[in-house]
Amino acid sequence: MKTTATASRQRTSVRSSRSQRTQGQAYGGNGHEKEHNGHPSVSPGLAAWLAKPKHNLIAGKWVSAANGKTFDVLNPADGSVIAHVPDSQSEDINRAVTAARKAFESGPWRQLTPSERGKIIWRIGDLILKNAEELAELESVDNGKPRAVAKVADVPLAADLFHYMAGWATKIEGNTIPISVPYAPGARFHAFTTREPVGVVGQIIPWNFPLLMVAWKLGPALATGNCVVLKPAEQTPLSALRFGELLLEAGVPEGVVNIVTGFGETAGAALAAHDGVDKIAFTGSTEVGKIIVRAAAGNLKKVSLELGGKSPNILFKDVPDLNAAIDGAASAIFFNHGQCCCAGSRLLVEKDIFDDVVSGVAERAKKIKLGPGLDAGTEMGPLVSEEQLNRVTRYMNQGKQDGACFVTGGSRQGDQGYFVQPTVITDTDPSMSIVREEIFGPVVVAQPFTKPEEMLPAANNSEYGLAAAVWTKDIAKAHRIAAELRAGTVWINCYNIFDAALPFGGYKQSGWGREMGHEVLNQYTQTKAVVIGL
Ligand code: ADP
Repeated sequence: MKTTATASRQRTSVRSSRSQRTQGQAYGGNGHEKEHNGHPSVSPGLAAWLAKPKHNLIAGKWVSAANGKTFDVLNPADGSVIAHVPDSQSEDINRAVTAARKAFESGPWRQLTPSERGKIIWRIGDLILKNAEELAELESVDNGKPRAVAKVADVPLAADLFHYMAGWATKIEGNTIPISVPYAPGARFHAFTTREPVGVVGQIIPWNFPLLMVAWKLGPALATGNCVVLKPAEQTPLSALRFGELLLEAGVPEGVVNIVTGFGETAGAALAAHDGVDKIAFTGSTEVGKIIVRAAAGNLKKVSLELGGKSPNILFKDVPDLNAAIDGAASAIFFNHGQCCCAGSRLLVEKDIFDDVVSGVAERAKKIKLGPGLDAGTEMGPLVSEEQLNRVTRYMNQGKQDGACFVTGGSRQGDQGYFVQPTVITDTDPSMSIVREEIFGPVVVAQPFTKPEEMLPAANNSEYGLAAAVWTKDIAKAHRIAAELRAGTVWINCYNIFDAALPFGGYKQSGWGREMGHEVLNQYTQTKAVVIGL
């Protein structure tokens, strides 16, 4: 018998009556686009897809959780239930790992030439573009982000990642290495290296860019010939499941990618600790990253981590264009509702332009149109969950208690859905939690500086080191500061510029390893040295 659990710990439904619906009834699926609370509802095609029972993808088959349980997936714009997905436990992870192992050891994946593998990966990119409208809409109702943003950012970036990685499948090369073994005088050898897939990879991803994180993780894993068990975030499991259908359509052989939905503490923990997993790739909070590292110690599986941030965004008085820099500072923190690990959440501004920048960013914050992601005019949707809403408002309340000045924002917006006002804060000091900790919401703290010598220690005064930005037209100064910043990415006169070819990852407690670019391929391969005595 199927039972339906509410994901109350993560996303308590604000309408408890809806949370008890049984599988298949979640989103009506009557084929009519209708108004929902005065806002546009999902399209008939997506409504029909949402209404279908959701299963895990294991060994190429769609299957229920072993215990038959599901949990609710909510639309963060109004708390309504949009689907039910398997509440997977360790038994489901066992089955998925077994399927991945079988596919890796004896399935057709290994027999494919690199070129054939690359063509499948390219097709995945094409299928994302072919289904762009539906994927953007799905991402919007599941995560809350504006559909228009998902359509121009998340979806094309995901497709591009696969297209980029498709080309690498044929370029995973080793070296020939001349060796001079001192204890074998006169002997001759031919030595070379090959780069082989790590094996079965567990991938645990967050809810802020659900589809794009699937791409960042699966693209390099497939290009290098690994097999995968992927666990999407419990708040946003839907695009990964739709993506599973596209993988099968693209011709990915059974068991090569297994997708298992569930909570972090159950399904996620079982995957991180599993002895049959050779590597775990995680994106999420630094706190959970540390749990993953401990769990991975059991069989010393390899670990890569892309974690939190508290990124400094530094504006000098000689910015090339003050208005453009203010636009950039606002977008650095407000893009994706501040739910970006690299959000420009600490604004450091040279004193002469501090007031102009703060009032400019605040003006822009006030004008941002909040609303459900499916509304055409929406510029900022709700936060992903009630838990996230509580977290962000808790930080803001703490900031108020600590005596910071809220130039604009500072509260929840409305009483339905998980909306938060874009917020600009000044008069902080470095000991405050709003300055030190990752809030993961549309909340920026601004502080003035007079000299680079005093700004740099402040910019680097963080346990994180994911990203940073510098705005100045003095190119030598920009280079000097970029070299001093302890961050994995430094943007100069721009922010949030991503590309499949550019490595992304963190210094300090922002992570281990890099996503994207050719650098990520090292994390999904291991080097074998072969020596032939001649
Ligand atoms: P956030 O704090 O932003 O919600 P998390 O780091 O908690 O992000 O979650 C990111 C991913 O990590 C999600 O897929 C979640 O299910 C998973 N996760 C959370 N806790 C654990 C855990 N103890 N073990 C493994 N995975 C976990």
